[in-house]
Amino acid sequence: MTKKIDVVVVGGGHAGCEAAAASARMGAKTLLLTHRIETIGIMSCNPSIGGLGKAHLVREIDALDGVMGRVTDLSGIQFRVLNASKGPAVRGSRAQADRELYRKNMLQTLLNYPNLEVLGGSAEEILCDAVGNISGIRTMEGSVISCGAIILTAGTFLRGITHCGSIKKPAGRMGEEPSICLAVSLEKLNFPMGRLKTGTPARLDGRTINWSVLEEQRGDSVPTPFSFMTKKITAPQINCHITYTNEETHQVIRDNLHTSPMYSGQIKSSGPRYCPSIEDKVVRFADKKRHQIFLEPEGLDDYTVYPNGISTSLPEEVQIAMIKTIPGLEKAKVLQAGYAIEYDYVDPRALKHTLETKSVAGLFLAGQINGTTGYEEAAAQGLVAGINAALCVGGSAQKFVPDRADGYIGVLLDDIVTQGVSDPYRMFTSRAEYRLLLRADNADQRFTPLGISIGCIGSERASSFGEKLKRLNKAREQVQRLSILPFEMNRMGYKINQDGVRRSAHELMRYPEIDFEDLKKIWPELADVPVDIAEQVEIDARYAGYIQRQEADIKAFRRDEALLIPEDLDFNAVGSLSNEMRIKLSESRPETLGAATRIPGVTPAALVALLRYIRRKPKDEKQVA
Ligand code: FAD
Repeated sequence: MTKKIDVVVVGGGHAGCEAAAASARMGAKTLLLTHRIETIGIMSCNPSIGGLGKAHLVREIDALDGVMGRVTDLSGIQFRVLNASKGPAVRGSRAQADRELYRKNMLQTLLNYPNLEVLGGSAEEILCDAVGNISGIRTMEGSVISCGAIILTAGTFLRGITHCGSIKKPAGRMGEEPSICLAVSLEKLNFPMGRLKTGTPARLDGRTINWSVLEEQRGDSVPTPFSFMTKKITAPQINCHITYTNEETHQVIRDNLHTSPMYSGQIKSSGPRYCPSIEDKVVRFADKKRHQIFLEPEGLDDYTVYPNGISTSLPEEVQIAMIKTIPGLEKAKVLQAGYAIEYDYVDPRALKHTLETKSVAGLFLAGQINGTTGYEEAAAQGLVAGINAALCVGGSAQKFVPDRADGYIGVLLDDIVTQGVSDPYRMFTSRAEYRLLLRADNADQRFTPLGISIGCIGSERASSFGEKLKRLNKAREQVQRLSILPFEMNRMGYKINQDGVRRSAHELMRYPEIDFEDLKKIWPELADVPVDIAEQVEIDARYAGYIQRQEADIKAFRRDEALLIPEDLDFNAVGSLSNEMRIKLSESRPETLGAATRIPGVTPAALVALLRYIRRKPKDEKQVA
């Protein structure tokens, strides 16, 4: 059987869902090919979306009309803003999701998506034409699907092996077959590949947990949605609970360390540095007396509980013994043992910033296959790959490449493509140097206009954004226009320098004790400014000085980014580069001088040599011509 399609997305995980939706939204005839349709949108590990840094990605995906934010809003059963007491740049929303609801809502969204077809099956071989460009994909079922572009989002499935104590099984996830032929196909195309590892904790039966002795963790009284399009969260909200490991737990782990595949030598690949297993925490932080565990119900009609914080690959009997030492879990029944998984990934330095591979035109990679970890990181890449694949098959010269100053999506792309990964990459706010400007609250202003210009925003969002912008601009104009003298402020009970200088409402908000609510008391005409608009205007005013400085930094950054390095540049031909620098630059093949500056170990002298060469090259070519 032969089928013809514009873009084929392989894999229905978080990268695949977002890639398929984006490509279809852009107007490309898209096929989502995944092992089993009913596993689309499954959360392999924690049933939650967002968190610090990750929430920014979800907001940006949403601002580009992606699906993750809206599906989370439909499925979230506890919403919390983390770091709520800190500055707006580092706050992050987190939603505990009903695992089954999330899967169902994502599946329904995609099944009803215009231009998108969903097919169950296994991709086995990437097919190229005579000049090495993508021509199609062969499935295990024997079909050939002809297409202009492929987006591979195979997650942890490429030659996946699960580990639980000494038990090793080939699997893409617990109970699911791994993808071996697809890994071989990538190898045949000479992609640089490596192995990484991640892990998940046991699942517990909530009916056997002694909740009465545990600390309760409530969600926010008014849940904040992820999507700019969601007006209100309507799903019922639940509480989570907190418990801790103790000396006894740590002793059980220490006594059995030799049975952990990570310590017995059975697992050799690197795991997520920022999400270590419990055995890793006990060894690395030996002086810590306890580690926190969040007990998170997996759903409204599900008694399964996810114990966040104790991922492990210890043998099942050791996991049971360890869990019994934890307050509240003394009688807890283990429904499924925790396990680790090792899998192949492709060195992301083999990719352009568009997530198209440098060596095979029309082949895009997104998600865990690129060495990242996390649903949000996967979804962000899926979105970028989906948009670019659609542009590519549409014959457009346009590329969708947000840079580090546009948003966290840009930071993620640039980090992995320029520097590669040594352990699974996850997002943090600290990775973004311009984070004061890249806030979750203004993600729509940073991305929706870009999305409209590229064609990935639906009419409903475009008009809703237009309305919001009108309200925002009006409020901004008002706070610049309205002004007051210090003595008038004094009369109203506000302590302001009595220097006789008239201050605008905008300037007044730089005083920490004056916020938009105060302005409403002074100027009743501001009373009808909506809360989200007031918050934006207040942030703009409070951080105006810092924001101006970051804007100047961004200008300098973009100057370097504008210096393109020719795709075919032979770094060996650049005089005065040491061999070490030639190797580093050839491995990464940076697309701009700015990207070259971010390759670890590339020296200022090498950058100067490169800059001179690039500037001189066109002149030399002209002379030759
Ligand atoms: P996945 O969500 O893995 O989706 C891959 C999809 O591709 C699946 O639908 C699969 O069926 C399909 N597929 C694969 N090969 C083929 C093929 N040949 N043909 C057709 N379809 C195919 N993340 C964290 O942030 N923290 C954690 O602690 C954490 N722990 C994890 C523990 C485990 C055991 C696992 C498995 C994952 C863990 N993750 C964790 C990672 C998280 O699940 C992933 O980052 C995220 O799901 C990646 O999304 P993805 O879309 O790249 O891949």
